[in-house]
Amino acid sequence: MTADTSPHCNTAALGPAQESLDPEDWQSLRHQAHTMLDDMFDYLRDLRQRPVWQPIPDEVRARFQSTIPVEPSSLAQAHVEFMESILPFAAGNAHPGFMGWVQGGGTPVGMLAEMLAAGLNANVGGRDQIPIEVERQVARWMREVFSFPETAAGLFVTGSSMANFIAVVIARDVALGFESRRSGVAGDTRRLTAYASQGVHGCLAKGMDMAGLGSDALRLIATDGRGRIDLDALALAIAEDRAAGCTPFFVAGTAGTVDMGAIDDLAALADLCQREKLWFHVDGAYGALAMLAPDLAPRLRGIERADSLAFDFHKWGQVPYDAGFILVRDGALQQQAFTSPAVYLQREGRGLAGGSPWPCDFGPDLSRGFRALKTWLTLKVYGTAAIGAVISRTCRLAQYLGKRIAATPELELMAPIELNIVCFRYRAENPERANRQIVIDLQESGAVAPSSTILDGRFVIRAAIVNHRTSQAEMDTLVEKTLEFGRRWNSRTSLDTQRADSIGG
Ligand SMILES: *Cc1c(COP(=O)(O)O)cnc(C)c1O
Repeated sequence: MTADTSPHCNTAALGPAQESLDPEDWQSLRHQAHTMLDDMFDYLRDLRQRPVWQPIPDEVRARFQSTIPVEPSSLAQAHVEFMESILPFAAGNAHPGFMGWVQGGGTPVGMLAEMLAAGLNANVGGRDQIPIEVERQVARWMREVFSFPETAAGLFVTGSSMANFIAVVIARDVALGFESRRSGVAGDTRRLTAYASQGVHGCLAKGMDMAGLGSDALRLIATDGRGRIDLDALALAIAEDRAAGCTPFFVAGTAGTVDMGAIDDLAALADLCQREKLWFHVDGAYGALAMLAPDLAPRLRGIERADSLAFDFHKWGQVPYDAGFILVRDGALQQQAFTSPAVYLQREGRGLAGGSPWPCDFGPDLSRGFRALKTWLTLKVYGTAAIGAVISRTCRLAQYLGKRIAATPELELMAPIELNIVCFRYRAENPERANRQIVIDLQESGAVAPSSTILDGRFVIRAAIVNHRTSQAEMDTLVEKTLEFGRRWNSRTSLDTQRADSIGG
């Protein structure tokens, strides 16, 4: 040890290692940790006895208004707080009755993988380390699943919102030339335009906005009766934009739209993009992994021809949040779109700074968590056949629900069931008001939690069946509870009408 010469740094005060944040008593930590682990296993095992979701009491919300703690408190005490104030008030997407939006259920294996990854605290932005090989392994597996070439690059990101944005950025740079990364797009007169169906997820417009191209430059093309992009309308829009001096550059097909689970004709889109020399992107956020289900995979024909593909392991793949992925056919283009020189990130042939190129060369993030581990472990432990079987079963449950709705005169199916999403409503005099109330009643009942959407201007109840724990019992509960709340609404409104009539009369 050299003597301390800095007046500001008193090294004499540096004691032995007990001043780290590690415990002094590992045995008691171990004991506490096992309690925490058991609590989470109990939670997952007994989920069905809990409400899917429950309204949060003001008093519970107020517990999160305290000032920042300066003094320590015990882990045991903090864990009690978690069990009492946090765990019961989550959104409930782990619960089999959750069918709102498109969200995965997670698994005990995924949960344990998160613990292992956090223990390593791997930062997989770069450097020569096996955690990056795990990510490359998943990328190779995905190349196989989607029949992408050896040249394809794969990268974990937060979710498909980020993956779709990355695809827009690569396609933009390819269209304008990579020098535009320095010159920017502000002065460019080429006016890039992109295309997707009206059922496209909102994140693509946001991606166009963030890429500096403007959300208006995303043209929303009409769909057919099954929610698929109208190919003639698309060709016409491209021709009109060309005639008006714009530069079409990007078409996004969707494999599984959020509102009704529609799959665009991906092979036809691939042909069109080839003909028109446009970047062919597929937003397969939740639907792409249907590739793992032999009965559904043929419906994704053409996905193997995409220039880029965005999808999530955290939806149908059941990997805990978050685990989005972007697969790019020509990995070199992705690298050119995101690589940037920095002296502190120099690479070497050997040593810890080896292993170039690094994940940080393929996307906006430098520091990155080890998302690959929970995905690798999920695929390894369950196998793709089991994940595919879950995906397939959710679609069969959707068909079952559709049959029950068709057999119930008070209910009305509002869209064809393409995959795992069922849109329906309760027949009532004022269907929007009635069904809006029914959705809230269902959620507040804690029994099942669907969400809603608007189709052709009509408010519908939307049940997205994504969770591996969901079974026929939840489909039956959804139908029965919808009828119960619908009838209650009808009798209440007819009472109101009678009352209004008697007041008026
Ligand atoms: C969920 C979803 C997205 C957004 O993905 P995130 O992982 O939530 O960012 C985009 N497109 C579709 C079709 C989706 O289902």
